[in-house]
Amino acid sequence: MATGDIGKSVSELHELLVHKDVSSTELTKAYIERIKTVDPELKAYLTVVEDRAIAQAAEIDRKIAQNEVLGALEGIPMALKDNMCTEGVRTSCASKMLESFIPPYNATVTDRLQAAGTILLGKVNMDEFAMGSSTENSYFAKTCNPWNLEYVPGGSSGGAAVAVAADEAAFSLGSDTGGSIRQPAAFCGVVGMKPTYGAVSRFGLIAFASSLDQIGPFTKTVRDNALVLNAIAGYDPMDSTSVVYEKPDYTKFLVNNVKGLRIGIPREYYGEGIDPDVAKGIRAGIQTLIDLGAEVSECSLPHTEYAIPAYYLIATAEASSNLARYDGVRYGYRAEAEDVLGMFKSTRAEGFGPEVKRRIMLGTYALSSGYYDAYYLKAQKVRTLIKQDFDKAFEKFDVLLSPTAPTPAFKFGEKSANPLAMYLSDITTVPINLAGIPAISIPAGFVGGMPIGMQFMGKAFDEGTLYRVAYTFEQNTNYHTLKPSLSKEVLACGSR
Ligand code: GLN
Repeated sequence: MATGDIGKSVSELHELLVHKDVSSTELTKAYIERIKTVDPELKAYLTVVEDRAIAQAAEIDRKIAQNEVLGALEGIPMALKDNMCTEGVRTSCASKMLESFIPPYNATVTDRLQAAGTILLGKVNMDEFAMGSSTENSYFAKTCNPWNLEYVPGGSSGGAAVAVAADEAAFSLGSDTGGSIRQPAAFCGVVGMKPTYGAVSRFGLIAFASSLDQIGPFTKTVRDNALVLNAIAGYDPMDSTSVVYEKPDYTKFLVNNVKGLRIGIPREYYGEGIDPDVAKGIRAGIQTLIDLGAEVSECSLPHTEYAIPAYYLIATAEASSNLARYDGVRYGYRAEAEDVLGMFKSTRAEGFGPEVKRRIMLGTYALSSGYYDAYYLKAQKVRTLIKQDFDKAFEKFDVLLSPTAPTPAFKFGEKSANPLAMYLSDITTVPINLAGIPAISIPAGFVGGMPIGMQFMGKAFDEGTLYRVAYTFEQNTNYHTLKPSLSKEVLACGSR
């Protein structure tokens, strides 16, 4: 029986499949069972494709029966954030606008995971159009943090983080425009990687802010993360921002050794707004790395304080343009009205939620003539300064280290009434997207019973070094082995 296996890592499950200790069908059914047990409370999934998943698993089991060589991800059940297109399976972006949108094509990541033999269990919840930091902006449901059901899971990829943390999928994919993989990974106690801009194809990812969006994996372990990145990274002619580069085998970097690795501690990431207990937890982690032989010293990224305003101008400007396509004419929601103009207006008024509208208005304003230079252009200049801060730091350091988020997960409603407070909580993640560099969040302890994450930032296309340091930290700590209790009693209490 596979029920006991759903908590295992992808690499452990692979061994079980290879040795025929479990079949992909049994495994898939066990995850579906788990979803039926915990998801009525957690609400990570927006769509579950049970029959399709079981049919896919049966295909893989036929290969296993014929003793064919099994790829690292073959037969492994997973979930996709609901902004990645899946042919024939609804892709809603957690918006009323796309409530009944069934894409006629796959995103490149969907294709690549399919080619790798993974089993799609379903599509997971998010903030509407990936705008938010708590998944509270979903049109459909509020996803709960499995560590405490009264707390948010982070966002915008909240469902993807919860699916992995609560054993509702062996791994998942999220997207990260300003922290949406790393922050929910930190809040839920799992591993989340935002790769370098251009490393993973965004073809078929419903666009939020095109110069910032990247897709990446959520996993239970650093090894699993490298395995999934192996499958999804690499040049794609269908995405004009995809970069031609020599993709390494990321598992080659999984060595338990940081001797001589130069780690910079940007002092701006430990100052104002950072919960002192979070800072303390991260400092304890830094000490672990020092004890393991890393060379650690302080550094400065002086333009960090301008990252939030620059990000919220650039991201909203790009969003206002990307979301112009939802007009009720071509696809998506259409409101009834007397005339065409009325139809456009009502479609957008009824189809988008309040946060999406706020951002479209802000972005349209920033791009309007007369304000373009003062806001949008200025923000782009600041973006260059932020990138230069990183370039300079990487002359002296191999990686930089910070808390992933300024606080642990917060309670439902705590920040949703105050958009600015929500935006400010992104201070430790948005600079990385502005610079286009990779960063990973790994479990690094607990504050008040909730997980916290440690973030490593690296040079462009140097995901390998991030995996090396993250793996070493993981092998010398036990945070990644701890699991939330989702007993009947806990689930019965619910979130509210
Ligand atoms: N929290 C950030 C925002 O609201 C980042 C979202 C994301 O990365 N998709 O824009």
